[in-house]
Amino acid sequence: MVKLTDISRVFRTDTVETTALNHINLHIEKGAFIAIKGPSGCGKSTLLNILGLMDKPTSGQLVLNGKETFVMKEKERNFLRKHTIGFVFQKFNLIDSLTIFENVELPLLYLRQSADKRKKAVLEVLEQLELGHRTKHYPYQLSGGQQQRAAMARCLVSNPELILADEPTGNLDSENGMQVMHLLQQMNQNGKTIIMVTHDDNYAKFASRILYLFDGEFNS
Ligand code: ADP
Ligand code: MG
Repeated sequence: MVKLTDISRVFRTDTVETTALNHINLHIEKGAFIAIKGPSGCGKSTLLNILGLMDKPTSGQLVLNGKETFVMKEKERNFLRKHTIGFVFQKFNLIDSLTIFENVELPLLYLRQSADKRKKAVLEVLEQLELGHRTKHYPYQLSGGQQQRAAMARCLVSNPELILADEPTGNLDSENGMQVMHLLQQMNQNGKTIIMVTHDDNYAKFASRILYLFDGEFNS
């Protein structure tokens, strides 16, 4: 479902030039569960941001579901992202001033769904992730594990085909980390393609394929 061809990403400032990704090639099949490992600064987040169409490479191609994405107009690319990709982050990235319900509802607002449809979908996914009793709470009133489950609910609510998770267990203890992994596993069994960055071998084991990134290149 995703094919990267010769992707490079160079960050330039006045004084330094950093090659975060160096001519990366990668083909990910629909339904795969990929773990990406590698030392800090090797380009993992840069790669995930490009896979998520959040950042553009300096050169190279990304084909998603048969469409070449970086030649598209920005509007078209945003549309494709909103309909196809969900994100989970290490720091949850919930909006502090919104309730859990409102946080999870956001992707559906961007998709311009009706209020009735939104409400039904949000309550369903919160129920599924055992947060049905926390809809009116604010993020700070939840434990770390609950906040990450809320972030996963926000990711799932729009039913994305591809889930990108950047160290999703990084801020959690092992019990909550395992719970997040089991949820990702469940999403994968429901047909979602998952690409996850992790440092932890116990979590990488959940994946069907582990990729090692080193200095912006795959080391297989
Ligand atoms: P990882 O997620 O593997 O820790 P990153 O993808 O965040 O690594 O970063 C890869 C390299 O690119 C690092 O050397 C980092 O400093 C650099 N980098 C990342 N983002 C930027 C940016 N916006 N501007 C300049 N350099 C960046
Ligand atoms: Mg990172």
